[in-house]
Amino acid sequence: MSQSNYPIPQLPNYQIQRYSSPMRARHLIWSATVVLALSVLSTTDLAQQPPYDVLIRNGRIVDGTGSPWYLGDVAVKGDTIVRVAARIDGAAARTIDVRGQVIAPGFIDIHSHARDGIFELPSADNQVRQGVTTLIEGPDGSSPIPLKPLLDNVAATGVTPNFGAFIGQGSVRAEVIGSINRKATPAEIERMREIVKQGMLDGAFGLSSGLFYVPGTFTPTDEVIELAKVAGAMGGIYISHMRDETAKVLASVRETIEIGEKGKLPTQITHHKVIGQANWGGSVQTLALVDAARARGVDATIDQYPYTASATNIGSALTPAWAREGGSDATLARLTDAGSRADILAETIRILQEERGGGDPQNVQLSRCRWDPTLDGKRLGDVTKARGLEPTLRNAADTVLWIVANGDCGGIYHAIGEEDLQRILKHPATMVASDSGVTVFGRANPHPRGYGTFVRVLGRYVRDLHVITLEDAVRKMTAFPAQRIGLSDRGIIRVGMKADIAVFDPATVRDRATFEQPHQYAEGVGVVIVNGRIVFENGQMTTARPGRVLYGPAFTQ
Ligand SMILES: [Zn+2]
Repeated sequence: MSQSNYPIPQLPNYQIQRYSSPMRARHLIWSATVVLALSVLSTTDLAQQPPYDVLIRNGRIVDGTGSPWYLGDVAVKGDTIVRVAARIDGAAARTIDVRGQVIAPGFIDIHSHARDGIFELPSADNQVRQGVTTLIEGPDGSSPIPLKPLLDNVAATGVTPNFGAFIGQGSVRAEVIGSINRKATPAEIERMREIVKQGMLDGAFGLSSGLFYVPGTFTPTDEVIELAKVAGAMGGIYISHMRDETAKVLASVRETIEIGEKGKLPTQITHHKVIGQANWGGSVQTLALVDAARARGVDATIDQYPYTASATNIGSALTPAWAREGGSDATLARLTDAGSRADILAETIRILQEERGGGDPQNVQLSRCRWDPTLDGKRLGDVTKARGLEPTLRNAADTVLWIVANGDCGGIYHAIGEEDLQRILKHPATMVASDSGVTVFGRANPHPRGYGTFVRVLGRYVRDLHVITLEDAVRKMTAFPAQRIGLSDRGIIRVGMKADIAVFDPATVRDRATFEQPHQYAEGVGVVIVNGRIVFENGQMTTARPGRVLYGPAFTQ
């Protein structure tokens, strides 16, 4: 956990001042006079405070709307942006001269797993150091039921970034039906609709699903639509980790669009990708489906992380869903029964060949094995060899079942094509999201997306490869996700908006986290402000914890 080995990046070209000495001297003298002469301290002393709390000067303002950058200053008072102008001369408690670097709205991560880690590390360093100021939880159909205690706990804990959540369809189904593969009865659907409604009243931004996972995968489309209608009627959106991101990805995109269309609510393909080399290029058709849907008035959008590897636990990724029905005891029973074990093994071999295995066990990397941390970071082929087996697909599949039987591990799957990644990123309806939790520095071998998603887009895909423009990239991280979930007071640098701000150097901003060495913070981000408070500067997190719980459109106290 120690971070002492990490070299603090120096950003010598920042000039940061407390408010100017004459101002300070005047203030002190005046205050002293007041103390001596009068007892009417509070109002008169208040009048002597500088007009701004934070003044950021000489920035290239990339305002989040997609408009070209312009030169200017941004002034903050309290938690709000109070002035944006070519030049602002008023005094401020803190003046920061950013000398031509970018002033952008803080980044909004619409697909985060922040409840994994936020209570252990409320400062969320891996995210905030990239410029992220808002984390939205409850994706992939997974959220606490009910939602309220989570949001209350975050508010009580005091966290650095803002925090919001979706209500998860898989969790709702598990609550009512369990992890069982059967249709819901009308009474059960009614009960699930009630839980979704309560989640929306508790402050969810909409309904998430993980139709790839157990138990979401057991859900017929019509049942999802019935729940989506509830979220939609209350102003929420639908966001889905789709049923299949491999050979059946087109059918999954159609289903996601259908749920939005029939559920009458905005619908979003989350972390869109096409997995398995045989399916590469499929984004041409998936994006055409999204375009066709939008052309006929379906509000369908996309989010994405900028890596050619995905991550989820080994069992979910590499064994068939039927093998995991009913929970881990049922899974273990199937693994010890010779007949069902052979069936699982055959299906796992196929998945290693055609889907997340990418045809080679070395494409699979273990990220976290709680039962044996020495496996963290190792490749499946190497683990198979270490078990005394040739690293064939069959033996690797046997190793997969051995891992699941031992309590499973997190895994990373290098099976996404770069061309699809870039094509999806370029699409105007695609925003950027990490799919990451709050990462404790140095622990295990997580997917680098938690440390690098946003700065990787700005460094690799904007500056180095020119895939999208700087302004478009910032839009995909700020105004676009804000608008998607109805955060009308965040995501744009404009007077009256909440002061969530990221300052970064477009010439040096980059991700350093790799699949081999993920625990490396972002580079090139200079200052991060949440609700008007500086949370990161000079390469260091501050002690401020100004993050707020953000509530969705149907929230009632
Ligand atoms: Zn997911």
